[in-house]
Amino acid sequence: MSEKSGAKELSPIDVYMLLPKTNCKKCGLENCMAFATKLVNREIALELCTPLLEKPYEKNYQKLCNMLKPPVKEVTVGTGDTTVKIGGKLVMYRHELAYFNPTAIAIDVTDEMPEEELLIRVKKTEGFSYTYIGKELKLNMIAVRSTSNEPEKFRSTVKKVVENTKLPLILCSFHPEVVEAGLTAASKTRPLIYAATKDNWKDMAELALTYNCPLAVFAPNDLKLLRSLAKTLMEYGVQDLVLDPGTFPNEGLTDTISNLTMIRRAACKRGDELLGFPIMGTPITAWTEHSDIAEVNMWNEAYLASILINRYADILIMHSIEGWVLLPTTILRQNIYTDPRKPVAVEPGIKVFGQPDENSPVMMTTNFALTYFTVASDIEQSGINCYLIVVDSEGLAVDSAVAGRKLTAEKVAEAIKQVKIEEKVKHKKLIIPGKAARLSGEIQELSGWEVLVGPRDSSEIPKFLQEKWQ
Ligand code: SF4
Repeated sequence: MSEKSGAKELSPIDVYMLLPKTNCKKCGLENCMAFATKLVNREIALELCTPLLEKPYEKNYQKLCNMLKPPVKEVTVGTGDTTVKIGGKLVMYRHELAYFNPTAIAIDVTDEMPEEELLIRVKKTEGFSYTYIGKELKLNMIAVRSTSNEPEKFRSTVKKVVENTKLPLILCSFHPEVVEAGLTAASKTRPLIYAATKDNWKDMAELALTYNCPLAVFAPNDLKLLRSLAKTLMEYGVQDLVLDPGTFPNEGLTDTISNLTMIRRAACKRGDELLGFPIMGTPITAWTEHSDIAEVNMWNEAYLASILINRYADILIMHSIEGWVLLPTTILRQNIYTDPRKPVAVEPGIKVFGQPDENSPVMMTTNFALTYFTVASDIEQSGINCYLIVVDSEGLAVDSAVAGRKLTAEKVAEAIKQVKIEEKVKHKKLIIPGKAARLSGEIQELSGWEVLVGPRDSSEIPKFLQEKWQ
């Protein structure tokens, strides 16, 4: 089979040829070519071209659906507001387009856990929240594991979890009768069933079809078997699969990474539909090494999770609930799943901190999101009342923006005018970032404002103001 690269090879003209080509603007765009370009870039839904949904274009619509179908199927778990979408990947490498559907992270509970511990873990999972560059980082699912292998125990545990969270569930057991007991307690929530194996696949397939649930397939370190199970299950009628080739810590790490890479390569580069499903990683296996020191297990789990997020995992099951494990994991996920085609930027303009008056400091920074939120957080934490002018640097940080002429004295002078800061303060002093020092003279000349060169690091703003701001 030849290598191909999913979405990248699709050209706007291929798509355009199948559109109605009437330029009717019903999709909100100027013409069909503009719509085709956005479709190829995955920036618009096909269904927004309403004429295409009419009878005469039925065949074209079907062809377009097939052309735009991602090589990794998108699978949904759960229902309602907290539904999680996994997979739906169009490319193997992020820089080829962008990654969609960030890796979902599930935290485990077991049916042998004391009730109090179980409820605390569920609450902590649902309540985990951290704001990073203006985005809220959250955990996504609860994995309920049967360690007792007793159907009744599992049913009552799943019931308890369903009563206490809206997060989607993964029901984990290799025993179909145990999974079925769990499903009866979560029948309306479309959980992910974990997992079908070579020994139980038929019973698990029946459960997936009866309860209309996605099904994970587990074939540890055996891609041939995994592919063959996927084929069998699809022929049996189960269409929403998740592939788990096993996660092996320490000595097994090479196999783990290699398996995940081969699966994703087969789907994205060779169009192998049997491996074109979301992949599951289980960093929780770090705990099977049984270090006496819990922190060592947590550390191992954190690095396993980060490797798996980097190497194509669409869903993870984890055990650690500690912030120092989950924070770097969720931040890494956030960084990988930003769209590389778009700079991470905030709206330029004026931001007000506290209750500034006519004598308050006026500072300036760029609209790169990481820069802005770092500066904003340093200002907020020190309780400074001030104005911050955010200049449009096309999403670049201060030093890169100065070097690349995206932050110029002209832009700063124009921003001062546009935000009408002269109506808010009675002085004409602007504090610029230390990394933009070389623009100071020019800004002063063009704007007529006295420029004070501030610190290179925004954490030093409070000290700077104390010493220099009269
Ligand atoms: Fe073209 Fe469809 Fe948009 Fe009309 S709605 S302009 S036919 S893409």
